[in-house]
Amino acid sequence: MPSVKFYSLLYSSLLLLTLYSCKTSYLTPTNHKFPDPVNTSSKPIVEQLKKTYTLDGVSVSNQFDGARLNGFEKINDTTYRAIITPENEPINESAYFCFELWSETNRNIDLELYYPNHEHRYIPKISDDGKTWSTLDSMDFDTLKGSDLATLRLSSGSDKKLVCAQELYTSQHNTEWIEYFGQNQDNVEISLVGQSKKGRDIHCMDIYEGSKKDKDAIVIFSRLHPPEVPGYLAMRHFVEEILADKALSNLFRKRFRILVYPMVNPDGVDMGHWRHNAGGIDLNRDWSLFNQEEPRVVATHCVKEIRSHKNQVLVGLDFHSTQEDILYTHTDNRQSSVFGFKDIWVDALKDGLPGHDPQDAPYDLNQPITKGWFFLEFNAEAITYEVGDETDRAFIDKKARLAAKEMMKLLVLRK
Ligand SMILES: [Zn+2]
Repeated sequence: MPSVKFYSLLYSSLLLLTLYSCKTSYLTPTNHKFPDPVNTSSKPIVEQLKKTYTLDGVSVSNQFDGARLNGFEKINDTTYRAIITPENEPINESAYFCFELWSETNRNIDLELYYPNHEHRYIPKISDDGKTWSTLDSMDFDTLKGSDLATLRLSSGSDKKLVCAQELYTSQHNTEWIEYFGQNQDNVEISLVGQSKKGRDIHCMDIYEGSKKDKDAIVIFSRLHPPEVPGYLAMRHFVEEILADKALSNLFRKRFRILVYPMVNPDGVDMGHWRHNAGGIDLNRDWSLFNQEEPRVVATHCVKEIRSHKNQVLVGLDFHSTQEDILYTHTDNRQSSVFGFKDIWVDALKDGLPGHDPQDAPYDLNQPITKGWFFLEFNAEAITYEVGDETDRAFIDKKARLAAKEMMKLLVLRK
């Protein structure tokens, strides 16, 4: 018969095991159930052939990060055709393209963008240096709604010109942006969260002053979808306002902790994808099963940081782009720890931007997206901040800074 000592040993081992497993599960993301589950197991993708094409003195190239070009043809003496295809299918209609163009002699070119079985979406942006961009004038650009073809009239010469769906912001640009703040501001700590499927670094900007412990927190995501540069720009302006040396921002950083994951899908961005990661999956559908590396490392880092420092996430924001500015929120049956926040916040945006409708579009939990995850994991007020593909860039800046100010005001006043 086992001794009392045996039982007491067994009991303490079980207790330890229970405590350990509680602690482990407490610090790791939960596989929350969503009403509309999505299979997020990896699917094959077709990687674009990286090359420079030259046809009768006209060259195009996709040999740089963030490029997308899948073929090049000459149609007649003045017309050339760039073929653009997605990484895999089925896929959201976000026909992203980006390539360099130049020619031996100065000339005018009619350049067709052809997306077989897909639709044109983005008005081309042109740059000579990768820094200053202009949107192609409507006089120099023809397409029909829903068409698989768009025609651009461009002048070209020996200097390379970038022709892209959106301004080029790769993982390298993102690293430069976060490192600037990491090096110049004491209140920004840059952490390596983990690696993407292809081994690219995923970073977190941890913003706080004093101790991390016991602070209420906000969590910010961006660039789950590669071509959604306007949303990424809004996220940068929003974060820059939080980091500004202004009375409200300074007070906010003393009281709150802000975790920013500015580029969740660096593979998709650098590989010039339309929508997916290198596993061929929409990363804004994997916040339940965490089959893909990127949501898994981000959620794991976020939950561990928040729980181990006894933070409470009040607001979760994920920055995206679509056809127009819109804010996806939760319906009132989902009551967050700061229930009512978004109504006051949206009203403040309306008041601060006369003539602009921020479009609050509430809907309930459905697929495993970040908005649902912020709510289920942290009981946070969760908002998908969508920016229009062609929203004026100065307005993106103005609105994002106002959104940050109004958020800080509301949360500081709540204390
Ligand atoms: Zn998106």
